[in-house]
Amino acid sequence: MHTITTCASLDLGQAPTSTPITAAALRIGGLTRLTTIDYPGELAAVIFCQGCAWRCRYCHNPALLDPDAVTAWSWATILAFLKQRQNLLDAVVFSGGEPTTQHALAAAMTEVRELGFKVGLHTNGAYPDRLRQLLPLLDWVGLDIKALPLDYPAITGVVGSGTPAWDSLALLLEAEIAVEVRTTIMPGWTPAEVAQLAQTLADAGVTHFALQACDTIHALDPHLSTPPALATFTAHLDSGRFTHFTTRGI
Ligand code: SF4
Repeated sequence: MHTITTCASLDLGQAPTSTPITAAALRIGGLTRLTTIDYPGELAAVIFCQGCAWRCRYCHNPALLDPDAVTAWSWATILAFLKQRQNLLDAVVFSGGEPTTQHALAAAMTEVRELGFKVGLHTNGAYPDRLRQLLPLLDWVGLDIKALPLDYPAITGVVGSGTPAWDSLALLLEAEIAVEVRTTIMPGWTPAEVAQLAQTLADAGVTHFALQACDTIHALDPHLSTPPALATFTAHLDSGRFTHFTTRGI
């Protein structure tokens, strides 16, 4: 079902203008009011941002991909909710879709910090230059590393998508931002391929690594086959190379 395209043709972010972009411009597709699993060790809310330039075959959030989708959420609504949760929640996570697609993200993160919350970000790393600008606003990042760089297009449908993702990883490691790398098992992968990816991540300096099962039931591509259980893959990789290694799903 997949069409390979280029990153440039799918850059869905608003072009920067001379007028400052306010948090009110953030397009939001949903909110999780309380979670203990989306920011390790913290009670958090999750804001789901609209828009993503990639079309991963296993994406299970297709409603968030269209940056222009009409939603019931506004930044004012989110802000009112967060003000009610001051001193009750520790952190706010910006997730998606791909949050860094939107230029209003920095303003929204700034307002969240001003309310006293830690800021977390779930990102695919597609825009390392934007990520660099966000570094002063970030306390923790969950970064998807989907594959080794050359294997990205078969997952994302976007030529060259692996390069910015791995550049983002290097950027975060160099900046010493707390980061968890997440990899979802792509159907068809072998345990040896996953072990090689894990080894490459450890060699790069990744200390926190999560291996995630693929949700083929809700996947964008309905023709994906179900991969073997995660234990098939974890048995072959050297998890001892990571300070923290975890699995999500079965
Ligand atoms: S899985 Fe993430 S990066 Fe891939 S299409 Fe979905 S939102 Fe975008």
